[in-house]
Amino acid sequence: MTTTRALPVLIIGGGFSGSMLAARLAEKGQASVVIERSEQLGLGVAYSTQEDVHRLNVRTANMGALADKVGDFQQWLEVHHPDHADPEGFAPRRLYGAYIQSRLGAVEKSHPDLIRWVQGQATAINGTTVTLADGTKIEGRAVVLASGNPPPRTSRDSDSARSIPDPWAKGALEQIGRSDDVLVLGTGLTMVDVFLSLNAAGWEGKAVALSRRGLAPRAHIYGRHQAAPLPDAALTGCLSRRVKAARAVAASSDWRDVMDGYRSRTATLWEAADTDTRARFLRHLRPWWDVHRHRIAPDVAAVIDQLGEAGRLEIAAGRVKSITEIDRGLDVVWNPRGTHGERIASVQWVIDCTGPGHDPARDPLTAPLVAAGRLSIDPLGLGLQVAPSGQAIGKNGTEDPTFFVLGPPARAAFWETIAVPDLRQRIEELAQQLA
Ligand SMILES: Cc1cc2nc3c(=O)[nH]c(=O)nc-3n(C[C@H](O)[C@H](O)[C@H](O)COP(=O)(O)OP(=O)(O)OC[C@H]3O[C@@H](n4cnc5c(N)ncnc54)[C@H](O)[C@@H]3O)c2cc1C
Repeated sequence: MTTTRALPVLIIGGGFSGSMLAARLAEKGQASVVIERSEQLGLGVAYSTQEDVHRLNVRTANMGALADKVGDFQQWLEVHHPDHADPEGFAPRRLYGAYIQSRLGAVEKSHPDLIRWVQGQATAINGTTVTLADGTKIEGRAVVLASGNPPPRTSRDSDSARSIPDPWAKGALEQIGRSDDVLVLGTGLTMVDVFLSLNAAGWEGKAVALSRRGLAPRAHIYGRHQAAPLPDAALTGCLSRRVKAARAVAASSDWRDVMDGYRSRTATLWEAADTDTRARFLRHLRPWWDVHRHRIAPDVAAVIDQLGEAGRLEIAAGRVKSITEIDRGLDVVWNPRGTHGERIASVQWVIDCTGPGHDPARDPLTAPLVAAGRLSIDPLGLGLQVAPSGQAIGKNGTEDPTFFVLGPPARAAFWETIAVPDLRQRIEELAQQLA
């Protein structure tokens, strides 16, 4: 008979979060099974790109996978890719994928038989048993959901053959002709990646990119940067007072330093905020938070700026009203924000870059668990309710000691749990609990 202690931890999702958790567990002597549907472990959407133009949006010096060794990635680059080892630089994401796989390989070698990778789609979770699409059942002592960002909510135009609902799908952008015009829904980091890819492929068309506020990611600067010390007024009290205090600090330093000052405290501030404060943040501040917090490399920003200056890219605030198929293209009617007017963009393609559509009640893996009350949904609709320990919270408010959530699906608990500097901290905390 298998004893509970001998059972592995089951990790659903083998992107950065799942694979690096497995590595930390192995280093602590705990076996795990990583269930990953794609062909490669450790990459996820972010690091599976092979295009050099797709760059990290966090400085090399801060991208180490280990909470107690943040310079680890830079040291790895110095040995393997010295041309990219500038600590202040923003390396190609494919190199980060290679780094993760190399770390995983090293841990597998030094701690043999503690990480088992099962390629397959997890389709059901019963107790601590996970069922795969082919019917295989795997029993563990705990389940960790590390499934990353869900795909976007299907946009209204997804039926059209000229709509690209998932720009990350293999070959999705290759359909776009050199002189085709495009309309992009969403003006965030995915939009940036799409234009980097198109630009590198020699695309010469024109584009409109739309979002509710028309805000695009701001740029990092090379050289001087330092987290600004934040006064109490920027950390407590009502949000408008905090914003005023933060602006005052930015006026005498740089707004990037202010955002970096918030970075290490974000999860604590989020935890301390009540539902009303969180709701106000989401309603009024979130679009500005996102574009200032998730910045792009300066030379990546230059590519986007050049497209704008050449009159080939208009980033606008507006809403799509209708999309009609015309001969060899689509007519998109949209309302510019704050007007009753209409504009028409005649394009060959519409690309959905609206980002992940977190909705555990519609995800086939989590929906039955939500319906049964084992999982519950955050009152603001951000995703699953998760305790600061990472344990999932059921409908009756109790924490489940055998069900953990890691990475983007846990954002309702931590808000910022997307980028490596936040994830490696969560991984460390979870590894300590599970081992
Ligand atoms: C385009 C892009 C660029 C980014 N750039 C940066 C950056 O420069 N720096 C930074 O710090 N962060 C960056 N991020 C944030 C990024 O999300 C994290 O760094 C990290 O990759 C998240 O890892 P994850 O494992 O939590 O999620 P993911 O990487 O999404 O991995 C989840 C994995 O789970 C698998 N999966 C999902 N459901 C199932 C299932 N039911 N069964 C089996 N497998 C399943 C998926 O196939 C996937 O491989 C970027 C994100 C994106 C999308």
